[in-house]
Amino acid sequence: LTEKLEAALKSVSGQGRITELNIAGTMREIRRALLEADVNYQVAREFTERVKEKALGTKVLSSVSPGQQLVKIVYDELVRLLGSEQVDINLSPTPPTVILVAGLQGSGKTTFCAKLALYFKKKGRAPLLAAADVYRPAAVEQLKTLAASINVPVYSIEENGQVVQDAVRVAREAVQEARRTARDIVIIDTAGRLHIDEAMMQEVEQIKEAVRPHEILFVVDSMTGQDAVNTAKAFNERLDFDGVVLTKLDGDTRGGAALSIRSVVNKPIKFASTGEKLDALTPFYPDRMAQRILGMGDVISLVERAQEQYDARQAEKLRRKLRSADFNLEDFYEQLQRIKKMGSLRELIGMIPGLGRYVKDLDVDDDAFKHIEAMILSMTPEERRNPDIIDASRRRRIARGSGMEVSDVNQLLRQFKEMRKMMKSMSKLMGKGRAVDLRQ
Ligand code: GDP
Ligand code: MG
Repeated sequence: LTEKLEAALKSVSGQGRITELNIAGTMREIRRALLEADVNYQVAREFTERVKEKALGTKVLSSVSPGQQLVKIVYDELVRLLGSEQVDINLSPTPPTVILVAGLQGSGKTTFCAKLALYFKKKGRAPLLAAADVYRPAAVEQLKTLAASINVPVYSIEENGQVVQDAVRVAREAVQEARRTARDIVIIDTAGRLHIDEAMMQEVEQIKEAVRPHEILFVVDSMTGQDAVNTAKAFNERLDFDGVVLTKLDGDTRGGAALSIRSVVNKPIKFASTGEKLDALTPFYPDRMAQRILGMGDVISLVERAQEQYDARQAEKLRRKLRSADFNLEDFYEQLQRIKKMGSLRELIGMIPGLGRYVKDLDVDDDAFKHIEAMILSMTPEERRNPDIIDASRRRRIARGSGMEVSDVNQLLRQFKEMRKMMKSMSKLMGKGRAVDLRQ
């Protein structure tokens, strides 16, 4: 996703302004990038719509490139979509707090249960793990091994060396055990199937009924993309869980799951799991996730570099022209075209390197520029390159050709000369210095 977004954002950097036109392609790119990252179609569409609305309504600051501004808008919207604020686990005022952990097989439930136990232990709590994944003996063993490494007790029921296959009983008795042994948090690890399955759902529902957990966490493998959203939806319909745990964010993971789960099921993502080691668990911070998805630092510096190069190139070109005093009407015309392409004149003329602060306060009339254009177009290339040769008869011809008065042509030429003079003195002021962006 990051690469795709970078490419998409790169395409707007170096452009003068966020307009409907130059944003359309970028928005398409961003949407495609989101879809390819398995973001739900509806979510991706709404996301790009919102970004577009905000982008178009944004006044372009002359000191920031449109690319940067767009990055900021995309970033803000990502943070918003991801939930803006970090949400904590619900703790019961009277211990023990009961936390039910559900999800598909292999999503990382058992690992997460142990991680969460360690997380609470570090906060001075006394957790108890409940081995309610009773169908595979190895599952109980796995939990026991993990728990032993962090020195946390596990509650399980075994008779004659066999695991008793009653998940509800394990959960219920684990809570009693916690009361008896003054453990203030019970974390219930449950069984999962490879696919959503009625028996599994019923069992988790029954556990929920039996122990009335204070917190139900849905664990999902962030690498499963679009499937993660469907799974989240199915679990939420049955369990109405309180929060989501995203696992395997350490891998080559796509941001898609986080993005759409949050907005499709409207439940906060509470934890991010980033490795097999038990301390690889952090609360979920939407801003960090947005940065991660965007590759923020990279994108920004990339956009900045592109913008600097563009500015430097333009400024250098103009400076060379001004120095050699051959800035002519052709260059002037070219500048006008560039301005027109970028959007509303009034805002944009202020962005021409060097012109900005002189022209900013003027009332710029788009029509006036059409007239200027018409007159320049009525000149011969020779006249444009060398306005000094334009004598009285040539002026009359230009006026006729452009449908203007001779006085208009006179005024244009006078203004152009003044401008050239002003630019020349400015270029001297810039002196031997670097090609600098004069807009700041
Ligand atoms: P469960 O079936 O839902 O209980 O999933 P497990 O906890 O047994 O995890 C399945 C596999 O994923 C195991 O090999 C874990 O070591 C691994 N795993 C779990 N969480 C993470 C994680 O955040 N990052 C990585 N890289 N692997 C993880
Ligand atoms: Mg397990």
